[in-house]
Amino acid sequence: MPFAETDIEDEFAMHTTSEINREKKRKRTTGKEIPESSERKKKKKKQYQPNYFISLPITNPEIAGNIRAVQDAIIQKDDRLSKAMVHCGSLHVTMLVMHLSSKEEISIAVGALSDSKDFVEDLLKGKTVDLSFQGIDHFKNEVGFVQLAENDHTAILSEIAETMRKIFHEKGILAGEERAFKPHLTFMKLSKSTQLRKQVKKIDSSLYEDYKSHYFGNEILHRFDLCSMLKKKQPSGYYYCESSVFLGKSHEADFVKEALHRETQALLSRLSQIKELLSTPDVRMKIRKELFEDGHNLNNKWRSYINSGSPNE
Ligand code: AMP
Repeated sequence: MPFAETDIEDEFAMHTTSEINREKKRKRTTGKEIPESSERKKKKKKQYQPNYFISLPITNPEIAGNIRAVQDAIIQKDDRLSKAMVHCGSLHVTMLVMHLSSKEEISIAVGALSDSKDFVEDLLKGKTVDLSFQGIDHFKNEVGFVQLAENDHTAILSEIAETMRKIFHEKGILAGEERAFKPHLTFMKLSKSTQLRKQVKKIDSSLYEDYKSHYFGNEILHRFDLCSMLKKKQPSGYYYCESSVFLGKSHEADFVKEALHRETQALLSRLSQIKELLSTPDVRMKIRKELFEDGHNLNNKWRSYINSGSPNE
């Protein structure tokens, strides 16, 4: 996400079950609502900011390629916006956000995700959910996203999101937001950089004009992940996952292949960065110098060893 950078959802207000009960008790005992200090409200809000989410990962390279193209086109017009771009390895559709504050809560959430798998498989009865990504829209000109074509498949996705929310809620996990589920694929957001947010208040929609109705590709639903917004991301750019559920057995093998491919790509890209770095005359000179100095120091050590019977530290 959603939000591993600076933007952990200010807008999301969450209330834990115990918090709601406390609130009810407070009202019951006093008979009327006591106004809460804004300081207390702020503290609470911070405490329950979402830090985990259920992700539907985007694995189709065609979609990622098209997203990269629109990102590049935007950056060409305004290079400040490069800081707003979502890494193509982390593309996803958010199904649900939640706040998990302990290992116990994480393991409850892992259980809830596994229960969701049973529900989804019952609902689908072997059918696939084929999501079609087409057209660009925005939230408050601060978030740019690719839309999902509205059809029976997105209707099922909404049903899955709603049921997941209920399953997590029944287990006492504070999941969901006040607003309705609006599936979307974010490719840029100003909140990725505080500095940028100061410079650019709104994303000008003319920057992605050429892609407004563009077809980005389809993604077949085959996996959901419980991801951390805050833990260090994977080398591929994707979020840290506490657990994943696969829909349909054959997809597990695909997932292993896909994960291996992602990791290999990340390593290859690092390798080519290193090669590039080593090919610059400056760096080569530094290395040569260091090797020479090391060699020189080593020689001195041996010389003193031969002279005194023990090497200098
Ligand atoms: P995500 O794609 O889930 O990472 O969301 C990107 C950003 O879009 C987040 O910062 C959310 O605050 C914002 N967002 C997500 N859903 C909505 C919505 N239905 N209305 C307005 N903003 C949203």
